[in-house]
Amino acid sequence: MSDDSSVLRIVWIYPDLLSTYGDQGNALILRRRAEQRGIRTEVVYVYSSDPVPVEGDIYLLGGGEDRPQNLAAERLRSDGGLKRATERGAAVLAVCAGYQIIGESFGDDDDNPLPGVGILDIRSGRGETRAVGEIVAEVAPEVGGGTITGFENHQGRTALGPSARPLSRTLLGIGNDGSTEGAYQGNVLGTYLHGPALPRNPALADLLLSIRVGQLDPLPASWGERLHEERIAAVM
Ligand code: GLN
Repeated sequence: MSDDSSVLRIVWIYPDLLSTYGDQGNALILRRRAEQRGIRTEVVYVYSSDPVPVEGDIYLLGGGEDRPQNLAAERLRSDGGLKRATERGAAVLAVCAGYQIIGESFGDDDDNPLPGVGILDIRSGRGETRAVGEIVAEVAPEVGGGTITGFENHQGRTALGPSARPLSRTLLGIGNDGSTEGAYQGNVLGTYLHGPALPRNPALADLLLSIRVGQLDPLPASWGERLHEERIAAVM
């Protein structure tokens, strides 16, 4: 956790540019599941006109339309704070546009490559079709296994470089390329899953928390687990 206190700092990057489909729910659920275990938290909202603090514990980025996505990438690159934070060991969960942005490059409206933040070894371009709908995937065993559920709405397709590993294998939906979904590299995770992803997948929320706070006590199953089961049952 952050050096100066026992507070877990959750940093929401660019609520003004990257916040489609309720992705801010990811910050709320991380806070809730941490506090249920007696871990004090602080959620820091960093707007695109603000510097990105480097002393956060978990950084969250959401989805966005193409133009705000381009602007967000440009600002995050010139700011440099997110990259420095990950070098200090912070965890990151980036969704959809945020996922593409933290990679090496992504396609603009005409599929010309734009540079990303470069903390995840992925490259995204535009697909022939838009990927829209429910998505279900099996998480890689080395990151905990299990099934994840969400919905996707993106034009982009993503190829992983040798330093990144697929977060999961797609059972329904498109994800990166119709076969894998999301990616991880060290403490940096990316996914196409909206939902928001963490309220729908409490185990994924705990995986992210555990990167910073170590092993967690289990919590009794609640509405999050019920939502998870209900969403999978609805489409499989
Ligand atoms: N603009 C990106 C794409 O279409 C991301 C969309 C999103 O974040 N939902 O691929």
